[in-house]
Amino acid sequence: MAQAAIQDAIRITHLEKAFGKFTAIPDLTLAVPPGSFLVLVGPSGCGKSTLLRMLAGLDEPTRGEIAFMGKTVSSGSSGVVADPKERNAGLVFQSYALWPHMTVAGNIGWPLKVAGWDKAAREERIGEVLGLLGISALRDRYPAEISGGQQQRVAIARTLAPKPAILLFDEPLSNLDAKLRIEMRSELMRIHRATGATSVYVTHDQVEAMTMATNVAVMNQGRVEQFGPPRELLERPATTFVATFLGTPPGNLLVATRQGDWLVHAGVPLAPAALAQGRDEVQLFYRAEQITTGKAPDRPVLMAEFSEAAPMAGKVMVTASAGALRLSAIVDSFPDARPGDPIEFALSGAPDAVFAMTGERID
Ligand code: ATP
Repeated sequence: MAQAAIQDAIRITHLEKAFGKFTAIPDLTLAVPPGSFLVLVGPSGCGKSTLLRMLAGLDEPTRGEIAFMGKTVSSGSSGVVADPKERNAGLVFQSYALWPHMTVAGNIGWPLKVAGWDKAAREERIGEVLGLLGISALRDRYPAEISGGQQQRVAIARTLAPKPAILLFDEPLSNLDAKLRIEMRSELMRIHRATGATSVYVTHDQVEAMTMATNVAVMNQGRVEQFGPPRELLERPATTFVATFLGTPPGNLLVATRQGDWLVHAGVPLAPAALAQGRDEVQLFYRAEQITTGKAPDRPVLMAEFSEAAPMAGKVMVTASAGALRLSAIVDSFPDARPGDPIEFALSGAPDAVFAMTGERID
């Protein structure tokens, strides 16, 4: 007997969003399996918040559809738009407006009251989410009597109280200090495991994205460049955009031209021409860890101009420029160079990836 297909928690089909003449999202299709923690990353203005707002029901799509658990909640063509309250989705913003005249318990119980839960069920649920967020002791305090980090926990507890199947987060940790962010990051992951709610999370923070996500969607100009588990994106970027957007520091992309049996960059033969699969010009991708500084007689060496060096997790990140090209290397010790000095960047091993000039991966 054929097994029933597992329904996607979120299915986005040919979604388009235009603001007047400007199209922020041209045509976006994405399926999110139940229980995923999807993180949306991408440069400023790529459409992350626009997508999240449409998922939350705060904005309507121009075209295309959004379905939650197989049920259409937004449709640009038929005009179906489920009210944010009917979506069984909860939204957590970076600024959390708690009711100042209500206690912590009152704030958390409010959406349950609105949804018609009886008093006993409300009390039970308030106790549960207070426990889940580790804030039971704050139950009878007012928002003005608790810290910013605690207020954020109350806001999250309030969102979780009605048991939404889908949780949407718009940079919820960006107002917190560095230590609190790390703490809340693991808290949110624990909450995700405990509730099983499918989550969509927008962030600018790559560490947040890579540690929290089951899946990452890298967005660029309203399109999804690549969607997959974070390790897959780091290890096998599908486009030059993803290769250079993810990772700290970003890897090095060198344009190389076929000359006889070799792919040559700035007069230096780097790799066998066969890697180009018949193309005359390709982009070779070398990770920062594949580069050492200083002379290396048996390896291809690029001459560059030293820019800066900074400590990084026990190693040293060195950046240099060669014309318009910016190069990064992770090395063992600080180079003996001042900004503007010539420095050798030696490449080791085969390129980590080969991309066509149009940006897509060919090897
Ligand atoms: P950031 O990381 O800076 O928050 P983002 O990826 O969330 O950016 P969006 O806020 O979704 O980007 O914006 C996507 C594009 O749509 C941008 O070019 C933005 O200027 C445009 N845009 C967003 N909202 C509107 C609006 N209400 N009217 C007109 N243009 C808008």
